[in-house]
Amino acid sequence: MQPASRADQILRDTFGYPAFRGQQQDIVSHVAEGGDALVLMPTGGGKSLCYQIPALIREGMGVVVSPLIALMQDQVAALDEAGVRAAALNSSMSWPDVQAVERRVRQGDIDLLYVAPERLLTERCLDLLTSSKLALFAIDEAHCVSQWGHDFRPEYIRLAVLAERFPGVPRIALTATADALTRKEIIERLHLQNAREFVSSFDRPNIRYRINEKISPRKQLLEFIKSEHPGEAGIVYCLSRNTVEETAEFLAGNGINALPYHAGLDSGTRESNQNRFIRDDGVVMVATIAFGMGIDKPDVRFVAHIDLPKSIEGYYQETGRAGRDGLPADAWMVYGLSDVVQQRWMIDQSEGDASYKRIITAKLDAILGLCETTSCRRVALLEYFGEAGKSCDNCDNCIIPPEMWDGTDAARKLMSCIFRCEQASGFSFGAQQIVDVLRGKSTAKVQQFGHEKLSTFGIGADLDANQWRSVLRQLVMHGLVKVDHERFNTLRLTEASREVLRGERRLNLRRQVAKPVSRRGERRAVDKARITAAPDSANAIVFEALRGWRRDTAKEHGVPAYTIFHDSTLLELADRLPGSLDELREISGIGATKLERYGHALLEVMQSAGN
Ligand code: ADP
Ligand code: ZN
Repeated sequence: MQPASRADQILRDTFGYPAFRGQQQDIVSHVAEGGDALVLMPTGGGKSLCYQIPALIREGMGVVVSPLIALMQDQVAALDEAGVRAAALNSSMSWPDVQAVERRVRQGDIDLLYVAPERLLTERCLDLLTSSKLALFAIDEAHCVSQWGHDFRPEYIRLAVLAERFPGVPRIALTATADALTRKEIIERLHLQNAREFVSSFDRPNIRYRINEKISPRKQLLEFIKSEHPGEAGIVYCLSRNTVEETAEFLAGNGINALPYHAGLDSGTRESNQNRFIRDDGVVMVATIAFGMGIDKPDVRFVAHIDLPKSIEGYYQETGRAGRDGLPADAWMVYGLSDVVQQRWMIDQSEGDASYKRIITAKLDAILGLCETTSCRRVALLEYFGEAGKSCDNCDNCIIPPEMWDGTDAARKLMSCIFRCEQASGFSFGAQQIVDVLRGKSTAKVQQFGHEKLSTFGIGADLDANQWRSVLRQLVMHGLVKVDHERFNTLRLTEASREVLRGERRLNLRRQVAKPVSRRGERRAVDKARITAAPDSANAIVFEALRGWRRDTAKEHGVPAYTIFHDSTLLELADRLPGSLDELREISGIGATKLERYGHALLEVMQSAGN
C-alpha cells in the first residue's frame, strides 16, 4: 500500500480521527519515506501523530526521546488504549521492569519506545538499539538543546551521537518554541542540516487572550474562575513560591479545587499534585513556571497569570497549555505597576553582563507592549514570532476596543507632583505618597513632610487612586517616569519627562476598563452540554453519564481520564447519540481498538441515560 493511504488508514483505524490537521500529512509522508525533519508547531498542534504514524508505517521500532519521565507512563497508556504496542525506559522503573521491556525490544514486540535522554545515551541502551531494527528517532521538546532557553538539558547536546551511530535511521525533532535562534541551534547541535523544516502557524484560534489591570489579584482571579470556569481544569501562574502558596490556599478556602506546585515542595507532594491535576476532573493548579512543560492534558480550560511573565516567549508557551483539544479556552492575565517595578528591579539585581541585561530588558519591554497595546493581542503575539495576523474577534481588545483619553494634563500633574515633593524635601518619594498628595489626602506621612502645603496638593482629586496608578504605570512604561530601585522604588523624572511638562508632547493613554470582557452569558462549546443541565436537556444528561463512565473506567485502568476519550469525543457522542457500532465508528476519537473495547459500554451508557 502507498505510504499516504497507509497513513490515512492508521489515522482512521488506530487513532479514530477523520482527517489530518495542518501539515501533519506532509510531515508524516516525508518521515515515512525516510527523511529527517524539524517540526515547529504550537502546543496542541498535534505533533505526536507526526512521528507515531511514520513509526507504525515503517519497519522496526520508533524511539521517542522525551525529557519528561513523569509523563511517559501516560503517553504509553494512551497508546495502549489505542491498541499500539508501546513501552518506556527511564530511571524511575525497577530493574525487572527494565529487563522486561528490553526483552520485548529484542523480540521486536514494540512499535514505540519512549526513552529519557540520559538513559538512551548509556552504552547498554545504545547497544540494545544497535541490534534492533529501528523505524525512526523522534526528539521531542527539541528546544532543550538550547543553552539560552529556560528548559536547557545538557544531555540533549549529546544526542548528536545518534546521527553518527544510526546513519540510516530518519530523525524528526519537534518543538513548540518558535524563534529563529533556537531553530538554528537545534539544527546545528543535533546535526539536522539535511532535515526539511516544517513551520506551522503559531496561532491558537481557540484561545481568547485577555489582559486586565491588576487591582486585587486574588479577588479578580476568584471571580473569573467562579463565573467562567466553575469545576473546570486550569493553571494559575505566579512568580514566587510564596504567592503560589497563598493563592492556592485562598482559592481552596473559597471552594475551588486548587493545589500548589513549585520547586520548593518536596518531590512526593509535587508528583502527587501533578498526578491529581492530570487525572482528576477540574483541578486548578497554582504554580510557578516550574510546572507545565510537556503537560499533555488536553482539557485545560484556562491559564491565568497573576504576575507578569518575563517574556512573550514564556507567556505564549504557558498560555499555550490551554485548550489543546481545540475547544474554547481562556488566557487571562492581570498586571499592574508593581509588576513593572518588581521585574525591572529583578533585572537590575541579576548577575550577568550588560548585553545580557539589555536582552532581558528588551524582552520585558516586549511583554509590556503586549499588555498596553490597544489593538488586537493576537496580531501583536504573532508579529512577535514573525508571523502576520489579522484582527481576531477573540481577544479583549477586539471584542471591546479600549477607550483612549488625552492623558497629557494628568501626566503633567503627576510629574509636577513628583518634582515638587522632591524639591520640598530634598529626596524622592514612592507611588503611594505621590498619589496621596495628588488626591489631597492628609495622611500622617503627607503632614510629616509638609506636602499638604505644596501647590500640587489635591490637584488630582478628579481621579481615584487606581486611575492614578494606571496613569503612572503607563508613564513608567513609556520611560517618562523612572522607578529608582536603589532608593526604595521611589519615583524620579527622566529626560523625556520634560517634553511633556513643557507641553511639547501630548500623551494618549488607555482608559482603565471599568468592566472587563467576560464570557458570562455566552454560549460556549463546552458549556453547551454542561451548563444547560436543565432537566429537559437530554444532551447534558448523556454527557454527564458518559463522563461518569469515563471516570470509573479510567480509575479501573489506572490511567488519566483523557486517555480513554477526550471531552470533544464525549460531546460529539452526546450530540449525535449514535445507536450502533457502525455509527460509533464515525465519531472522532474512536478507533478500532477503542471501538472493540468500549463500543458496547458506550451504547449502553447512552441508552440508559437517554431513558
Ligand atoms: P502537541 O504535542 O503538538 O502539543 P498533541 O500531539 O498532544 O499536540 O495533540 C494535541 C491534541 O490533538 C491531542 O489530544 C491529539 O489527540 C489531538 N489531535 C492531533 N491530531 C489530530 C487530528 N488529525 N484530528 C483530531 N485530533 C487530533
Ligand atoms: Zn484580537
